[in-house]
Parts: sequence; structure tokens; C-alpha cells
Amino acid sequence: MTTVRVYNFSPGPAVLPLPVLEHIQRDMLALPDVGSSILEISHRGPAFLDILERAKLDLRRLLSIPDNYRILFLQGGARLQFAMVPLNLLRETGLSANFLLTGSWGVKALAEARHIGSVRVVWDGGSSDFDRLPTETEFHLDPEAAYLHFTSNETIQGVQFPVAPQSRNVPLVCDASSDFLSRPIPVHEFGLVYACAQKNAGPAGLTIVLIREDLLDRGSDDLPGYLSYREHAKNDSLYNTPPTFGVYVAGLVARWLLEEVGNLDKMSQINSEKSQLLYHVIDESQGFYRGHAQPDCRSMMNVTFHLPSEELQSEFLKQAKQRRLHNLKGHRSVGGIRASIYNAMPREGVLALRIFMEEFLEQNCDRLKTED
Ligand code: PMP
Repeated sequence: MTTVRVYNFSPGPAVLPLPVLEHIQRDMLALPDVGSSILEISHRGPAFLDILERAKLDLRRLLSIPDNYRILFLQGGARLQFAMVPLNLLRETGLSANFLLTGSWGVKALAEARHIGSVRVVWDGGSSDFDRLPTETEFHLDPEAAYLHFTSNETIQGVQFPVAPQSRNVPLVCDASSDFLSRPIPVHEFGLVYACAQKNAGPAGLTIVLIREDLLDRGSDDLPGYLSYREHAKNDSLYNTPPTFGVYVAGLVARWLLEEVGNLDKMSQINSEKSQLLYHVIDESQGFYRGHAQPDCRSMMNVTFHLPSEELQSEFLKQAKQRRLHNLKGHRSVGGIRASIYNAMPREGVLALRIFMEEFLEQNCDRLKTED
């Protein structure tokens, strides 16, 4: 039986780089010089400790992570971070956490923080269905806030910050789940960055946290061990058994970025070009394809758009699948189409989608007037 890989536009878990999958396949029965697979070795043995160290070094190089930041490999997904961030940085401080809401994930992060401490929404894009970002003058931070939380890329709406918002002396906390490693970020401007791995960095089950060391002092001592960043940092991500396979794959992804792509500037350039291929078709379609996000905050990772009717949307998805273009259905809360084009989506996949979009438009553009 031959296995044919499709172009997988899934929002996550998502496509991984082919050389990484091939590497995993080669090592699956036994890691070189180890004789057992990554799934079978102790997290405290030398082989895994090497993998862990190398993954950290490569991530540090890729993102130019300063020495006063710790890299933590955790479990529980980004959702656990929605709670861990306020548990460690907000609880018992007497301060409030400020939130910029630019999409569905920010709203969920806010709801979780509300259980734990005082929160303040400084900007909420909900009134325009989260199709834009605030300007600098549209939100006013509490200068004494415990932190400012924002979501660098809202995976569902396809809205991405081109640069991080200014937070002055307030620690900036970023949910970077769906654009981590897709472009360089000025880590020194952040207090904490977290990202689940299953979009750009590896498999589900691993979450990466970058935290500035001084913030490790904030969490109180009575937190359950697993929920304390301090505990994880003290144990160098080995407080309990870490997601060893996830760390191994994230390490391979980081090496792929360093050795085959080059660096995150190059990755960002490639991602920008890929997304432009699709946004161009949307913009030239005279309203047949309607992008969800305003042009100045369009995501390079999740391209979201609508067709003139539900019927056309179903037809689009059906025909796309026949061309091996899979998982293009938009999130149930927003509808429409979402093409997730993370780092590992090859340019050819995006081109194949672009050609399909152009042909579908050509065949159906007369239905715009009747069904709009
Ligand atoms: N934040 C963002 C921006 C996401 O895209 C996701 C997952 N799609 C999450 C948080 C939640 O991640 P997890 O399912 O790993 O908890």
C-alpha cells in the first residue's frame, strides 16, 4: 500500500516538516548509539538529557533568547497556561492583569484568569467580530498592572499583530501558540511567552514557555508543584516526566529551521510570501472571496475568508478535497474557510490552493450577484 501525503491545512495539530518526519521514522526503532527509541528511554538518562540540552540551545539560537530567560518544556497545552500565568504572576499580588482581546483565544485566556485574580480588559475587538487590532492610542494600560496579556496570532479569526504592543514597564505576556517560530520575536521585550507546540513547533502534548528569571520569584510557595514555574525552572523541566517525544520533535524542528531554512528572518520571509499568494486572490476576486481580517492585521499563519453562500462553501471544500487540499473548513464559531499555512506547509501546497481558488472563482463568479 502506498501512502500519499495530502496538503494538510489543519489549524493544529498541523503539518510537520517532511525532513523531520523522515528523521523520526529513521530513529523510531532505535536512536543512534542508544539502541532504544525516544519513546522508551528515561527522561533522566544521558541520551534524553542530551536531546533536552540541544533543543534548548537551538531554540535559544533561533530566537536569540537572552541568558536571563528560562525555557520550560511543559504539558497541559496552551490552555493550562491560561491558568498558570495568573496563578504565578497575578494571584496574591493585589494588582490586576490587563488583557487585549483580539480573538477567541484571548477571550478564553481572560475567562480563566478571572477565576484567579483581578482582570481588566483594555481593548476588546468583539464588536467588529475580531477583524482588527487596536491602534496604540486606543488602549490605556494600567501602569501598575501585573502584566499585559495578548495573543500574537488569533488562530480562529486569522488576526496577527505585526509587532508586539507597547507595554512600557508592565511585563508583556504573549500567547504565541500559533505563530511561535514563524518569525523572529524580540524576546527581551517580553516577560513571558508561551506556545503549545502543535502548530509550528512539534506534536500536541508539549507546551513551551519562555520566562524572564525575575518573574520566577512572583509565584507563592503554596501552589501545587506542577503549577509553579519556579518548580519547573528549578528542576530544568524535569520536575516530573516531561513530554519526551515532544521535546525530541521540537528539537528536530528547531534544527530544521537552523540548518535547512537558515534562520527565523528567512522563515518569516517565506511565510509572508506564502500568505500573499492567497491574500492576492482574495483581493482580486471582486468580493467573491471575503477576507475576515482587515488587511493591516492579516495573519501569515491562518488565512480566513468567506464565500458568497453556504452552498458554495460546501462545494469549495468538496472540490478542494478532491485535489488533495484537506482541512480547509473554518472554525465552527466563525464559519467560512481557514487555510492554515504554518512553517511546514510547502509553497507548492499554497500554490495548489491558489490555483484551485482561481479556478473555483472563474467557474462560480456569476453566482456572486445572485447569492450575495
Ligand atoms: N491559544 C491559541 C492561540 C491557540 O491557537 C490554541 C489552540 N488552537 C490554544 C491557545 C489552545 O491550545 P491547547 O489546545 O494546546 O490547549
